[in-house]
Amino acid sequence: MEAIDFATPKTIDEAVQIMASNGDRARMLAGGTDLIVQLRAGRRSLDVVVDSKGIPELNELSYSAQNGLTIGAAVPCYKIYQNQEVASAYPGLIDSATLIGGIQIQGRASIGGNLCNAAPSGDSIPGVITMGGVAHIVGPNGSRDVPAEEFCTGPGRNVLQAGEILVSIKIPAPQAHSGTNYLRFIPRNEMDIAVAGVGTTVVLDPSGQNFVSARISLASVAPTPVFAKEAGDSLAGKPVSEASIQEASEKAMADAKPINDMRGTVRQRVHLVGVLTRRTLNNAVERARGG
Ligand SMILES: Cc1cc2nc3c(=O)[nH]c(=O)nc-3n(C[C@H](O)[C@H](O)[C@H](O)COP(=O)(O)OP(=O)(O)OC[C@H]3O[C@@H](n4cnc5c(N)ncnc54)[C@H](O)[C@@H]3O)c2cc1C
Repeated sequence: MEAIDFATPKTIDEAVQIMASNGDRARMLAGGTDLIVQLRAGRRSLDVVVDSKGIPELNELSYSAQNGLTIGAAVPCYKIYQNQEVASAYPGLIDSATLIGGIQIQGRASIGGNLCNAAPSGDSIPGVITMGGVAHIVGPNGSRDVPAEEFCTGPGRNVLQAGEILVSIKIPAPQAHSGTNYLRFIPRNEMDIAVAGVGTTVVLDPSGQNFVSARISLASVAPTPVFAKEAGDSLAGKPVSEASIQEASEKAMADAKPINDMRGTVRQRVHLVGVLTRRTLNNAVERARGG
């Protein structure tokens, strides 16, 4: 047993000050579904756990068609998918929020915690990347915004510097004729880590027959979530067709650099990226067409 202090700051400044003065002996706590598991397993040792729940900005969930979506770092998944306005504007985000763990986990687990935990398999991260999500960070030297695709730097590692905390994730309002989808492959229906996952966002022209732009991101096939930029860019200006989608899926497969482990082989994972890219692109197109 180790004694750990539990700090309950009420402001961002207070949290930053506690984090800065304890260095890597302190961690923020959102839902705790990663952090507490890691502490109990002895994979992490801390002096202070810093609770997020008393800080208003970390618990904000707001959406407007002008400003888009702000998800405070500690907002649990269930609050996101139970918010009708958010659920209808961001069905691609709901794909992930309803996938993470099960109902009990979703009662605590946050998108912010998923991002900060920086697992290659984090199910919400590809969708946040493809929707143009930005991490709003505050630390001892002020605030900064980091695009979601630059946030994770290695397995369990991210761009946060000493004393910095994630305040919120901001996602722009969806463009007209756009759609997002996230799918993963796991050997059973829930409570497992993705063997591979793919998120895609597409923007179509008003006819719904041509891609204006697309973004594709992959989970569980590299040390960090992957932003498959070339694969998405290859669709810009192309007709929505089997050929253009096939070409993008081949480029996404080329960006997958997985390992063999107990969940899957390199070959299986690369193959899955192709299948899931094609499926998510078709699903995102259907959503963009109003389906
Ligand atoms: C049974 C079970 C099933 C799971 N299934 C899935 C799954 O299907 N898919 C999936 O992706 N994950 C899954 N997970 C992992 C976990 O639930 C998710 O990663 C979840 O989103 C983490 O969110 P949290 O709020 O609980 O984070 P926490 O555990 O509170 O925090 C996670 C990490 O982020 C840091 N952190 C939190 N908030 C901040 C902040 N504001 N600033 C800086 N750092 C911060 C913490 O210090 C910690 O290092 C599962 C976990 C369990 C126990």
